[in-house]
Amino acid sequence: MARDLFGRPGTATELASERDRNFLIAGPTGSAVLKVSHAGEEPGVLDFQHRALERIAARAPDLTVPRVIRALDGRDIVEVPGDDGVIHLVRMLTWLPGTPFAEVLPHSPKLLQSLGAVLGRLNHALEGFEHPMARRELKWDIARSLWVREHLPLVADPDRRARVTRHLDRFAEELLPVLPTLRHGVIHNDGNDWNVLVGSGGPSERRVSGLLDFGDMLEAPLIAELAIACGYAILAKPDPLATAAEVVRGYHEEYQLTEDELELLFPLICTRLAVSVVNAAVQGSIHPDNGYLAISEAPAWAALETLEEIHPRLAHYTFRAAAGLEPCPLNPPVVEWLKANAGSFGPLLDMDGYDRTCPIDLSVGSPLVEHPEEPDDMPLFTHKLFHHMMSQGAEVGIGAWNEPRVLYIGRRFESEGNDRPMPRTVHLGLDLFCSAGIPVLAPMDGIVHSVRDNAGSRDYGPTVILRHEIEPGPTFFTLYGHLGRDVIGKLEPGARVTRGDWIGTVGGIAVNGGWPPHPHVQIICDLLDRDGEFPGVGRADQRDLWLSISPDPNLIAGFPPTAFVPESRDTPAILHARQDHLGRSLSLAYREPLNIVRGWKQFLYDRDGLGYLDCVNNVPHVGHSHPRVVRAAREQLAVLNTNTRYLHENLIRYAERLTATLPDPLSVCFFVNSGSEANELAIRLARAATGRRGMVVMDVGYHGNTTTLIDVSPYKHDGQGGTGPPSWVRKIPMPDGYRGEWKADEAGAGANYAAAVSSAMELLTANGEPAAAFLAEAILSCGGQVPSPPGFLAEAYRRIRAAGGVCIADEVQVGFGRVGTHFWGFETQGVVPDIVTMGKPIGNGFPLGAVVTTPEIAVAFANGMEYFNTFGGGPVAAAVGLAVLDVMQQEQLQRNALEVGNHLLAGLRGLVERHHLAGDARGLGLFVGLELVRDRATLEPATEEASAVVNRLRDYGLLTSTDGPFNNVIKIKPPMCFTRGDADRLIAGLDRAMLELAR
Ligand code: PMP
Repeated sequence: MARDLFGRPGTATELASERDRNFLIAGPTGSAVLKVSHAGEEPGVLDFQHRALERIAARAPDLTVPRVIRALDGRDIVEVPGDDGVIHLVRMLTWLPGTPFAEVLPHSPKLLQSLGAVLGRLNHALEGFEHPMARRELKWDIARSLWVREHLPLVADPDRRARVTRHLDRFAEELLPVLPTLRHGVIHNDGNDWNVLVGSGGPSERRVSGLLDFGDMLEAPLIAELAIACGYAILAKPDPLATAAEVVRGYHEEYQLTEDELELLFPLICTRLAVSVVNAAVQGSIHPDNGYLAISEAPAWAALETLEEIHPRLAHYTFRAAAGLEPCPLNPPVVEWLKANAGSFGPLLDMDGYDRTCPIDLSVGSPLVEHPEEPDDMPLFTHKLFHHMMSQGAEVGIGAWNEPRVLYIGRRFESEGNDRPMPRTVHLGLDLFCSAGIPVLAPMDGIVHSVRDNAGSRDYGPTVILRHEIEPGPTFFTLYGHLGRDVIGKLEPGARVTRGDWIGTVGGIAVNGGWPPHPHVQIICDLLDRDGEFPGVGRADQRDLWLSISPDPNLIAGFPPTAFVPESRDTPAILHARQDHLGRSLSLAYREPLNIVRGWKQFLYDRDGLGYLDCVNNVPHVGHSHPRVVRAAREQLAVLNTNTRYLHENLIRYAERLTATLPDPLSVCFFVNSGSEANELAIRLARAATGRRGMVVMDVGYHGNTTTLIDVSPYKHDGQGGTGPPSWVRKIPMPDGYRGEWKADEAGAGANYAAAVSSAMELLTANGEPAAAFLAEAILSCGGQVPSPPGFLAEAYRRIRAAGGVCIADEVQVGFGRVGTHFWGFETQGVVPDIVTMGKPIGNGFPLGAVVTTPEIAVAFANGMEYFNTFGGGPVAAAVGLAVLDVMQQEQLQRNALEVGNHLLAGLRGLVERHHLAGDARGLGLFVGLELVRDRATLEPATEEASAVVNRLRDYGLLTSTDGPFNNVIKIKPPMCFTRGDADRLIAGLDRAMLELAR
């Protein structure tokens, strides 16, 4: 039929279909679908479909929907008699490329938006389209949802039956009567996961490209299109509302939704799910042995349950926010009224000095809070807060509205998995820190709505809510939290209060959940049927929603701008300014850069309080902002910080402690400010000791950012923008046991690689630049976390020394116990260098570096020229260096690196077994890498995949990066306090990211 009727010969493969027989025809002119309808098919219905498809093709030609292929005689539907003489309608449509939405993971916000966008464009293209068949009777018509009622007895579980009944009753009473008043049009009516096609690309680039199966098309309220698609998209999602909101956002951008439609969307999604589950029960009763039916209905039941926890108006406001409208429609009139009446409100507290205020910064990056666990020590925090207020001469400390707070993070993030929910951090009220017992006054007239004692596992004390019935329009509420218990019994619900009336007293620490005394004042436009309490903190990703429900209480309080911390720039503004004022060559991590404002242990936090597990920063060696290191710096900085021309014990104690970690004869220190400075000085030392200039270095090595160090860093001078090595530099190939000539487990691999040192030296001598030194790391970092094979450094050092050169070990990355078995990386190779350079971890982030060498070389360097370094080795730097060594010892971090590192490496090796993409796992201690390849035989580097995985890990809250000559090695070198649990989380994240990439 394909050949004879449509002129499209090819190979036919039957496709699954419920009622028809469909065939994929793969032929020389491409692929098409031959559709043979069941005998009872109504020709008008097919005509309806074809006319709609043609309309879409004309109006939205870039939408991927099937195109009608006409028969050779020009007809689009051909009647063909079957063997029994019965007529079947035969037609042909184009085959669409793409992957079904159901098979794609993850459903990123952008992918969900693109689903909405495609539906919006489709509905837009069909605007005004009419057909006699558009109003046919179909059980999937949302207006006919009540057909499932008679099948309710098939839902065995009484709770589930009750749940469905509630949704159907609500549909009957509230939705059905208004459906006819909504905008109508012809819709696809079945945007399920198998009908939606996704284009190619990495997990974050994938977009919905088109739609299949127009068999359920119908004229219906347009919003049904979104309700149906959302009903499927939210299944098995941790946050169904956020998922649906992205679909709404995408739709609205293409085809504007009306306020009525947005209001009805949530109950319509619930209705559709109710219909789905009953339909599944019906199917189950027809096919009782089909276990698959029960499995496929489980997510719909789960979604129904989750949706029932969400207040419908909150969902409504969420969808309004997604459509760019003011989320809570009650907000504008309330705010307008408050603005119009500004100046008429009374003070909130009855006290002297009410106007002597100071801001209390509790933001995520606030210097007032030393670390996120500090609030666990409330007496200390309370003391600090009041000390701060006293120092500012303030009687009232103002805690701001719309502030994401560090105090709400606590330890929560550490226990959360990779599906972490956004923490609730944004403060929705105004806090007035002051003394307990001060009377709290009604700032305006109102009626006592509720007085409730919120004593739970943590005592938050009584909360009073006042109701304000204003003219004109809508009633709103004000809330006063953490009041003293004396309000109970004194204030009764229903009582009228006038401006200035007593409505309670400031409660003590006991009723503030342990916090210093502070009434919390909040405006609430919609109480969402809550009883006597209301969230005082909202999720940062729902900030617009919650701030719309709870507008700025300063509209009532009227404190001057000086009472508040000046507003800080948001992430896009910082990014913008960075582009204006910082060099373009300064790079940023991740496609969506992070605005990190706090570090603590192995965690980093962004300005909204969202936590990240830091798997890649080896500079905060003993943990971000370690209190002991912070204290050492702060205390010494307050006393003295000057240069090394005066005697100071710190420096000498530090030199003794540092050299004690090194083998003889490495006993003379020079202190500098960075790894670059250390390597720069090391080269000078080597040249002074040998009287030569040449350098032998490792391919893809990086040693620092100065002119000389770029010359000795092939990573830079052979990379983008580089101009190659100067005549006095020769590189040797990396001793890469995975990609290199000799494999890691080959006997003699190390010595074989080391032979290149001699040829490099010969070339230098031939250039008239004999080698002063060989400069290398024991484990190559920028080279892609490549450990040296056994015997490599021993043989390389032997060769260089035999030819009169010296050996420099760059320990900037791998030193200080990171390799686990030893304190220094070179020790794993059983060698002793002549010069060791240190940086990064040495000062836990404080600018500090060091060069340690032999007395002999130090003497050769002392040729009369003074060596002076303004900052290097100052008392603060030495105090910090000492503190780092102390913490290393006290917390046994080298041992931790060994134990956790081994566990991590074992986990990575498991990934190599499970994922084709994971080619090699390697490293020592907490300095490891995972190399991604497209082909295990050719080792074709999976560079884009590595970048996709790293960016995806960022979404899960796991920070890593890539390196190596092909940027295909995922680098893992976390703070040394990394735990086994952290390692497990990272492995799980990598596992998931690679699985997603495969889909
Ligand atoms: N040596 C190595 C091995 C490094 O990785 C780096 C920095 N990435 C440096 C030296 C230079 O250190 P700094 O950036 O502190 O100057």
